Amino acid sequence: MNYKLWIDGKWEDTKGGSIMSVEDPTTGKEIAEVIDASREDVDRAVQAAKRAFYDGRWSKIAPGERSKIIWKLADLLETNAEALAKVESENTGKPYAFVSLGGDIPFAVDNLRFFAGAARDTHGSHAGEFMPGYTSMYRREPVGVVGQIAPWNYPLMMAAWKIGPALAAGCTIVLKPAPGTPLTTLMFAELIKQAGIPDGVVNVISGGNDAGQALVEHPDVRMISLTGSTGTGKKIMKTAADTLKRVHLELGGKAPFIVFDDASPELVAAKASLAAIMNTGQDCTAATRLYVEKSKVKVMQEAVVEAMKAIKVGLPFEDGVQMGPLISGIQRERVAGFVDRAKAQGAKILTGGGVPKGFDKGYYYEPTVISGVQQDWEIVQQEVFGPVVTVQEFTDEMDAISKGNDVLYGLAASVFTNDIGRAMRISSALEFGTVWINDHLPLTSETPHGGFKQSGFGKDLSAEAIGDYQITKHVMIAQG
Ligand code: NAD
Repeated sequence: MNYKLWIDGKWEDTKGGSIMSVEDPTTGKEIAEVIDASREDVDRAVQAAKRAFYDGRWSKIAPGERSKIIWKLADLLETNAEALAKVESENTGKPYAFVSLGGDIPFAVDNLRFFAGAARDTHGSHAGEFMPGYTSMYRREPVGVVGQIAPWNYPLMMAAWKIGPALAAGCTIVLKPAPGTPLTTLMFAELIKQAGIPDGVVNVISGGNDAGQALVEHPDVRMISLTGSTGTGKKIMKTAADTLKRVHLELGGKAPFIVFDDASPELVAAKASLAAIMNTGQDCTAATRLYVEKSKVKVMQEAVVEAMKAIKVGLPFEDGVQMGPLISGIQRERVAGFVDRAKAQGAKILTGGGVPKGFDKGYYYEPTVISGVQQDWEIVQQEVFGPVVTVQEFTDEMDAISKGNDVLYGLAASVFTNDIGRAMRISSALEFGTVWINDHLPLTSETPHGGFKQSGFGKDLSAEAIGDYQITKHVMIAQG
């Protein structure tokens, strides 16, 4: 595979860009070189998307036709799942089983099939007479050229989450994957052509933050959709203000996992450990803050520590592996920095807190449980993005809600209890975009995913995501 820039339906060399190295996080060795797109490259991609939008080769074809083509793209993704999953595992260090089989790629296939279906139901909802002598109708139109900027934690799945609703809405796209993990998104570009999506409708450019910045600044881009950190979201929103672009921001998280005394310790241990280590904790919805009702702290904490100790850490292609390395040396330093500073503040490391034995190569870090922390410490307040969970206690429902809500983020939360009334009261009081009862992590294509507060706004997945890529036009007809 020759990784170049995918512009206007073909591979293009850079004009003025440079070369970036892509590494395998299990060894730190280079596995590929890709282009770091220049400002001129970004402009070429935007111009291709602009031509494709305004001549209507995608935006003006019948929704049924768009739907058929998106469905074909899902089929092609499914057919090529093995090859893509292999590269995704090499590039991210994720267990292969979690990317292939029942993991990221089958979910991405399902997401695209959902958007293929939903593409046929994106019309406006009103027509009528709201002033004597006039008929009004609402049209739902595609926003135009959209810039989509993805993170490194689920590279191909995030690409599908972005491309699916934008295509269903009739937009054209310039997509920039994260600098360290562009390989599967570039491979996916060829499938987009094979599916029959016209040239220029989807352009994929590899590049770093400057390429992202150029996309956000570009006057012909009508909307930016970012999945990334809250810091990047704030920068993008400021930059987008100059051209008054729409922004769609899926940002960081710091999910509480609230456990009442009637919950089963076995269930809590199984769900909390998996939700803390899934994707090595590099998941915006990861369980990061365990709050346990005071009377049960000891038993729940012990159960969670045992489950975290039993997590199988290893190489992506080993059987039964549940957790791989962190994405990079910088990320491991960041995670270790949070844990070391919490320790220095007086926290107790119940398990983990270092590099697992036998993993001196690559960027591995142990599943880690920390107690003895205070609500205002950075380990409780900030996104660590590693396999690290803190444990604190609460006294009653009000205390659980207040501690759960007491962070800047608002992406996802969970409550463990058998009392349905309590579960309903708490799910209504928590300021998070998703609240699970007696589980933590599952998402579906039909249900909206997105944040409250500084976790951003706009939705991925669901019909609501398509709505974010559309704009309402009012057409008013004088009857006389
Ligand atoms: P990041 O913010 O560092 O980078 C995300 C993307 O933004 C990259 O492609 C990067 O090149 C680009 N970028 C950075 N600065 C930019 C700028 N000034 N202008 C334009 N583009 C710019 O995030 P990351 O480290 O790749 O990903 C991890 C973050 O993503 C975490 O905070 C995580 O919580 C978040 N995330 C959120 C969701 C969600 O659905 N809410 C899902 C996955 C990840």
